[in-house]
Amino acid sequence: MTEAIEATHAMTDAQEPHFDYDIAIVGAGPVGLALAGWLARRSATSRLSIALIDARTPAAAANDPRALALSHGSRVMLQQLGFPGDATPIRRIHVSQRGHFGRTLIEHDEHELPELGYVVRYGSLVAALADAVHATRVDWLTDTSALAPLQDNDGITLPLQSASGERTVRVKVLVNAEGGLYQKSDVAAPGERRTRDYGQTAIVGTVSVSDPRANVAWERFTHEGPIALLPCGGQRHADYSLVWCCSPDEAARRMQLDDDTFLAELGTAFGARMGHFMRIAGRAAFPLGLTALEVLVYRRTVAIGNAAQTLHPVAGQGLNLGLRDALALADALSADGPRPLALARFAQRRALDRRLTIGATDTLARIFTVDFPPLAALRGLALTALEFLPPVKTALARQMMFGQRR
Ligand SMILES: Cc1cc2nc3c(=O)[nH]c(=O)nc-3n(C[C@H](O)[C@H](O)[C@H](O)COP(=O)(O)OP(=O)(O)OC[C@H]3O[C@@H](n4cnc5c(N)ncnc54)[C@H](O)[C@@H]3O)c2cc1C
Repeated sequence: MTEAIEATHAMTDAQEPHFDYDIAIVGAGPVGLALAGWLARRSATSRLSIALIDARTPAAAANDPRALALSHGSRVMLQQLGFPGDATPIRRIHVSQRGHFGRTLIEHDEHELPELGYVVRYGSLVAALADAVHATRVDWLTDTSALAPLQDNDGITLPLQSASGERTVRVKVLVNAEGGLYQKSDVAAPGERRTRDYGQTAIVGTVSVSDPRANVAWERFTHEGPIALLPCGGQRHADYSLVWCCSPDEAARRMQLDDDTFLAELGTAFGARMGHFMRIAGRAAFPLGLTALEVLVYRRTVAIGNAAQTLHPVAGQGLNLGLRDALALADALSADGPRPLALARFAQRRALDRRLTIGATDTLARIFTVDFPPLAALRGLALTALEFLPPVKTALARQMMFGQRR
C-alpha cells in the first residue's frame, strides 16, 4: 500500500513541473512595485506566488533625482496601495511659448476635480509603494540582477545574479518592468520597436523662485524645447522641480555651469513669470527619446511601464501610462491566472490607451521641439484655439489625466 502511494507521488512529481514562483517581476521601480502590490492584494485568495527582483537597493532608488507629475487618475489608482505624504497638489497648469503669442490654462475646477494632479519625488513614491509591498507575501530580492531568460512551452528559466553568486528560478510568467534607463538584460519581448531620437537631453533639479505661485505647474515652450516647472515644495511654495529640455551639447555645457550662471540662463529662457530664480540643487541629466515595443507579449513574457514604452517627458505621461499597464496586468493575471491567455487579454486591453498616449506625446514632442518660425505661429494658434474650444481642451485633459481604461 505504502509503495503504491509512493509510486503515485513519484508519478505526480514527474508529471507536475516544478515552479519556484508563479510570477517573477523584474524591476522594482514604481511600475514593478505597484504591480507587485496590486497582485498581492488581489491574489490573497488565488495565492499566486510572486517574486520581485531588482538590481538596485531600495536606498539607491530613493536617491533618484526625478520629480514626477502624477495625474489625478493615477492618484485614485494608487489610493489603496500608498501615496507619498509629501506630494504637492497641482491645481492649475499654465502652458505658453517663449517669444510668441498663445497660451492656455487648465484649471482643476473646470474638470470638477479637487486637484489636476500631484508632484511626487521618485524616491518618496518608491518608498510609499515599498511599504505596501513589504506588508505582503511577495518575495523581494534586492541587489539581484536578472539575466537573459530561457522560455519553453511550460515556463521560463530565469538566471539571477547577486553578491552570493548565480542561480536560476523557474517561473510561469515573467514581467519585464526593467524601465528604460537602467535596463540590465534583454528580457523584453523581441520584435519591432518604434524609436525616435528627439536630439534632446533633460536637465532636472530643484529650483527656488522669488515670486512663486502656489500649486501652479508651468510648461513653457522655447526654441530649444520645453521647460517644465512643477511645484514640489509642499508648504514651501518657492520650490519647483525643473525639467529643462535642450540639445545634448547645450545640456552638457549647462551641467558644467556654476549655479549663478545656470540660474541666469534659465531666467532668460523661462522669463520672469515667477520673479527670478534663486537656487538650484540636485542637477542631473537624462537623455530623451521614444522607444515603444510594437508587441508587449512574447509567449510567457510581458513588458510594462518604461520597458514597454519610454516617452519624452513633455506631457508627463510616462509613469501615468506605466501605472495603467500595471493595474491592467494585475487584473488580467488575477482573473485568468499566470497563463499566456491572461497576457493576451492584457495586451488587447492596453492597445488603445498606449496608441493614443504614445501618439499624442510623440506629436507634442515633435511640434514643440522644432525651431521653425511658421510652426511657432501655428503652435500659438493651437494654444489659443484650445481656450475657445472647451470640448477639445476637456478631451485632451481627460486623456492626460485618466487615459483609456476598459
Ligand atoms: C526627466 C524625466 C522626467 C519625467 N517626468 C515624468 C512625469 O512628470 N510624469 C510621468 O508620469 N512620468 C515622467 N517621467 C517618466 C518616468 O520617470 C518613468 O515612466 C518611470 O520612472 C518608469 O517607471 P518604471 O518602474 O517602468 O521604470 P524605472 O523607474 O526605470 O525602474 C526600473 C527598475 O528596474 C531595475 N532593473 C532594470 N534592469 C534590471 C535587471 N536586469 N534586473 C533587476 N532589476 C533591474 C532598475 O534597477 C530599476 O529599479 C519622466 C522621465 C524623465 C527622464
